[in-house]
Amino acid sequence: MAASLTTISMAGAPAALLDPVERLGAVDRWASRGRLRDKFGRAITDLRVSITDRCNYRCVYCRTGNEGAQYAELRIEDYLRMVRIFVGLGVEKVRLTGGEPLLRSGLVEMVGELARMRTAFLPDGTAVGDFSEGLPLDIAVTTNGHLLAGLAQPLKDAGLSRVTVSMDAVDAETFTAITRVPRSLDKVLAGIRAAGAAGLGPVKVNCVLLRGFNDGQIEQFAEFSRREGVIVRFIEWMPLEEDRTWKLETVVTMEEIVARLNRFRPVVELAPNVSSETARRYTFEDGVGEIGIIAPVSRPFCGHCSRVRLTSDGKIRTCLFSQSDHDLYGAMARGGTDEELRTYVRQVVMKKEARHHIGEPGFEKPSRSMVHIGG
Ligand code: SAM
Repeated sequence: MAASLTTISMAGAPAALLDPVERLGAVDRWASRGRLRDKFGRAITDLRVSITDRCNYRCVYCRTGNEGAQYAELRIEDYLRMVRIFVGLGVEKVRLTGGEPLLRSGLVEMVGELARMRTAFLPDGTAVGDFSEGLPLDIAVTTNGHLLAGLAQPLKDAGLSRVTVSMDAVDAETFTAITRVPRSLDKVLAGIRAAGAAGLGPVKVNCVLLRGFNDGQIEQFAEFSRREGVIVRFIEWMPLEEDRTWKLETVVTMEEIVARLNRFRPVVELAPNVSSETARRYTFEDGVGEIGIIAPVSRPFCGHCSRVRLTSDGKIRTCLFSQSDHDLYGAMARGGTDEELRTYVRQVVMKKEARHHIGEPGFEKPSRSMVHIGG
């Protein structure tokens, strides 16, 4: 029996020691306990899966530029089994990420398999009676867009719902200075346009702003959103980089971004799409363009967090800032049944942190950086 299953098991008893009747009891309790929630009552509906630790960009705020992949990647069918476990517990949204997920062979087929899965609960929280009553999953990919031009249509055809492209400058020179890959901007722009043409729009374009580096691009991004019909989302830089260079002074805060946008053209705040929305949404006074601002540093939204993450090597992370991870793949590889894995996931999720502590005295950097977790 898996070491992990013996360390975290039903009612504190090592799973290997439970007799068959007790094991059945564990299954019954699973079935009657409804959708996955943490100890603060937050429903976990959103799973982010890193399908490779490799990345073809070396963004300055994310990576050192010297290290490559550090963690293993698993077979696509292993990720699919783990996703199925989470979906059986109430996950409705699956986002594939990395590393760079478009580097991963088998991605299109994986999206096809995800598109065949159905939610285990209806929007009102009742468990579905049988498979045909469930709804399709919301399937998204976060990518740097470098390879997207050739993959947007196949991904859409396979059942992808949406794509988010990370693009940290509109200006080609600044873009290259950030990614450290020459002539990369044109490829990303082609990818964004291909995604829109394939019906994956409105495409979200995420930009992490760094003071003194790309914060001069705010107005150009506003124009880009208006011109290209994409949703631009500015994200506050978090202390999740490989080389530990984060400083609060480098973070461009939501307040500053809104002030700058207002000077460019007056903005109007939009209502959130859903209560767990991480971005504050704005348009301009003429209704053209959409800007989101995600402010985990200056305005944390942990109270609404509905996410857990699965790393490329199959570990569950309950928060970006966790100090440890939980080896779901290990439990599975050592023969855990679906029921045991569901029990394991439930118990891990109960350990989900209340919130992060960025900027507070005593803040401890997480045990993995963003690129090795999956953003
Ligand atoms: N390679 C893919 C991409 O570029 O979108 C997926 C992985 S990447 C780690 C996911 C997202 O995390 C990107 O949008 C990136 O900008 C963001 N990111 C990386 N490090 C970050 C940090 N320290 N703070 C905030 N966002 C970060």
